[in-house]
Amino acid sequence: MNIHEYQAKAILAEFGVKVPRGKVAFTVEEAVEAAKELGGKAVVKAQIHAGGRGKAGGVKVSKSLEEVEANARELLGKRLVTHQTGPQGRIVRRLLIEELTNIQKEYYIGLVLDRSQGRLVMMASQEGGVEIEEVAAKHPEKIFRETIDPLTGLTPFQANNLAYKLELPQDAVKKAAQFMMALYNAYVAKDCSIAEINPLVLTAEGDIIALDAKLNFDDNALYRHPEIVSLRDEDEEDPKEIEASKYGLSYIALDGNIGCMVNGAGLAMATMDTIKYYGGEPANFLDVGGGASEEKVTAAFKIILSDPKVKGILVNIFGGIMKCDVIANGVVAAAKQVGLDKPLVVRLEGTNVEAGKKILNESGLKLVAADSLADAAQKIVALV
Ligand code: ADP
Ligand code: MG
Repeated sequence: MNIHEYQAKAILAEFGVKVPRGKVAFTVEEAVEAAKELGGKAVVKAQIHAGGRGKAGGVKVSKSLEEVEANARELLGKRLVTHQTGPQGRIVRRLLIEELTNIQKEYYIGLVLDRSQGRLVMMASQEGGVEIEEVAAKHPEKIFRETIDPLTGLTPFQANNLAYKLELPQDAVKKAAQFMMALYNAYVAKDCSIAEINPLVLTAEGDIIALDAKLNFDDNALYRHPEIVSLRDEDEEDPKEIEASKYGLSYIALDGNIGCMVNGAGLAMATMDTIKYYGGEPANFLDVGGGASEEKVTAAFKIILSDPKVKGILVNIFGGIMKCDVIANGVVAAAKQVGLDKPLVVRLEGTNVEAGKKILNESGLKLVAADSLADAAQKIVALV
């Protein structure tokens, strides 16, 4: 799960990470009010779940209340296109009105799970404010790393080591190390999956603060963080993915036109690969899970069909824990409820497969049965 910059900064501040003073604004009036509290000058920052706002005109330094007002008016409701939003961009509905910071130099700090080591890695670089992916590609030697032992956590020694490599002024080294410790504590306590501070800045006053903040959270740990779930901004998410999460379905929307309903993430990946192999494009990844109920299957089917790009559906189920007759009942119920008018290819295999096939055959639905994954993929590709 992803949250806005202003929300991330509020969380980080609880853990002692230094951030600029600021306030969220949903209207031009609120923006002006917030800027008054900051003494009339402010940075007006578009809040969308994507970076690259600076280059796209979504971060505006405003030297007076008039400028704050004009910039807020321009940004609110605007479709901001950055290199991270895709060409369709994102509508700006919230602004962060933030204290104007005297930037001396910009740095980078990131904290992520390195899956190959099975450990968190903190990264720091003097190349802040720019695309870290670009630095990693062209100058990997400019990114310093510390791998964190889960038993000790980030040690003060490691934090100092990273801070030292940033070649900060003497006084700021300790502050940067403390910043890193606080960031690490926040990451672990809140079950983050990514924490990225780009830029971290050294101010003219010698402080170390987070000028930008991106936090992502591990969806599998959200059950123990209702305070984070409440930060969800549904405007920023695909409504189909929100609906899917209500039913505990793993669903990710893609760009193709073949809707896929599969049980098991591995089988779903294999199904998508096979569709592509035969020249088709999947419209989604969907894992209905091992023990899906008829209700869940119905919900999944409706979500797939709510995507106007979908021109046909491939159901590929291996009945292990999941029984084929349950899937068949779900497919029939959903198809009848929504009035299915698109080609449907079904491949069932495993537990209760005969009962499942019987339900489908007697349903009166126009569907095409398939015998293998390759057969199913070829049939749906031909039909769409
Ligand atoms: P993004 O990563 O989406 O472009 P950032 O929050 O990193 O957005 O802002 C982009 C740039 O705008 C920063 O690198 C910094 O130079 C400037 N900036 C952002 N916030 C402030 C601020 N409070 N005071 C002064 N400059 C800022
Ligand atoms: Mg940034």
